[in-house]
Amino acid sequence: MAKAVYPGSFDPVTLGHLDIIERTAKMMDHVIIGVLNNNSKSPLFSVEERVNMLKNVTSHLDNVEVQSFGGLLVDFVHQNHADVIVRGLRAITDFEYELQLAQTNRVIAPDVDTIFLTTNLKYSYLSSSIVKEIAGYHGDISGFLPPEIARIVRDKIRSRQ
Ligand code: ADP
Repeated sequence: MAKAVYPGSFDPVTLGHLDIIERTAKMMDHVIIGVLNNNSKSPLFSVEERVNMLKNVTSHLDNVEVQSFGGLLVDFVHQNHADVIVRGLRAITDFEYELQLAQTNRVIAPDVDTIFLTTNLKYSYLSSSIVKEIAGYHGDISGFLPPEIARIVRDKIRSRQ
């Protein structure tokens, strides 16, 4: 039984993330989306809000679950008896950081491997930060997020201004 953890901040989940989740769910028996509870990044959404948004957009995938985690990623992977970590690669700029992360994790937990999925070309430019920047100026974010998430992001930005 192959079990994967797909970790990230997901602040908020984008169509790029969802594409990686759907492709991973086809390859693996079970996928755990790990939402990082990291206060130092000062996210727009609380970890509970990010978990709920992910649950909402993955409800059609019956082998996907969503959890939050703090601390070391490899500890979270071990606690869930998962085999691999999945990460998405958009561009060469992601590569250096992702390679460092994967190699470090491999040193501290040699039994856990990292696999990379290349982005869907349609979403190769897309990041949660870009979406937040555009939303902050009331730009059109509908092409980047599932419709219900776009609505939540607009409401959040409005409530903050
Ligand atoms: P982190 O804070 O860990 O970078 P993110 O939520 O930004 O978390 O991203 C989680 C994972 O999803 C990372 O592996 C990232 O490279 C990947 N990812 C983000 N956006 C996209 C995208 N548009 N296409 C493919 N993968 C993506």
